[in-house]
Amino acid sequence: MIIIMNNEVTDAQIDAVAQRLKSWGLDSNVSRGVERTVIGAIGDESKIDKELLQALPGVEQVIRVMKPYKIVARSYHKEDTVIDIKGIKLGGRQIQVIGGPCSVETQPQMDEAAKYVAAAGCRLMRGGAFKPRTSPYTFQGAGVEGLEMFRKAADRYNLPIVTELMDVRQIDAFMKYDVDVIQIGTRNMQNFDLLKEVGRLHKPVILKRGMSATISEWLMAAEYIAAGGNHDIIFCERGVRSFETYYRNMLDVTAIPVLKKETHLPVIIDPSHAGGKAWMVPALARAAVAAGADGLLVEMHPNPCEAWCDADQALNPQELVDLMGSLKGIAQAIGREL
Ligand code: PEP
Ligand code: MN
Repeated sequence: MIIIMNNEVTDAQIDAVAQRLKSWGLDSNVSRGVERTVIGAIGDESKIDKELLQALPGVEQVIRVMKPYKIVARSYHKEDTVIDIKGIKLGGRQIQVIGGPCSVETQPQMDEAAKYVAAAGCRLMRGGAFKPRTSPYTFQGAGVEGLEMFRKAADRYNLPIVTELMDVRQIDAFMKYDVDVIQIGTRNMQNFDLLKEVGRLHKPVILKRGMSATISEWLMAAEYIAAGGNHDIIFCERGVRSFETYYRNMLDVTAIPVLKKETHLPVIIDPSHAGGKAWMVPALARAAVAAGADGLLVEMHPNPCEAWCDADQALNPQELVDLMGSLKGIAQAIGREL
């Protein structure tokens, strides 16, 4: 950590900073320049309370040198982490497309959806049984019954299921229906109690990016899960809030190479909640694969016009087939496979 002192700093103030560092077990190196005095803290940076230092008289700025995340950092694990989901590998050479409706509606809808997801060549299926809706007057999800319908439909095609957990009180039902991948939605990225609970489970977790979260906040949210012992975490970029109103969210493709550098964990992209319109999904999905995403989370409904949730961004079954076809070539061009 580097502590920059202001230009009127006194020796007593420099001494006070050194004493404070010493109380945390760190040494200090004082470098007096013409304009500024800079103090370098030597030792275990994690022991330092940055805010306490910042509050000392004479301190202008405190800069961290070490990254605050550990387990999720690339430096902790040099190789890419490959997560095994019932034998399906996510994070390796093979790109995984997780297809399915926004929400679980009825058994026939899920049966149809599962049939089309499998037929298109997707190896995992998505569907929300508990839905985080902006309005309390819209469909809130089929709940536990939805988990049952989802499990039944997906099992027929051996598709592992991905579904959103909104509250710790739903965990027992998630275990009962053996949900294969737990999704933490954008609105819960910093629900730290929820993150701690999924950190205790032995289930892969898709951690969606908060709609206005920085990459560092996102990595720290993942660290919460990892710190509990669950290291099977998949980052999912789904677009961030921006000034633009033409589309639902702005897909941050730049986040893919940044995360690949900062973490060893897999990164997937949700082009559906980014664009918010079905016609944008193929272009965004292709950009994501080209930029190095390990997978995609794509909404597909057997009959989008009838969807109870996010109807305008759902692909129809044929559009999913076409998308898979167009992604194949891109995957090959960058040395991967679909
Ligand atoms: C979803 O994937 O169903 C969802 C609600 O997404 P997000 O949390 O990204 O809005
Ligand atoms: Mn949706």
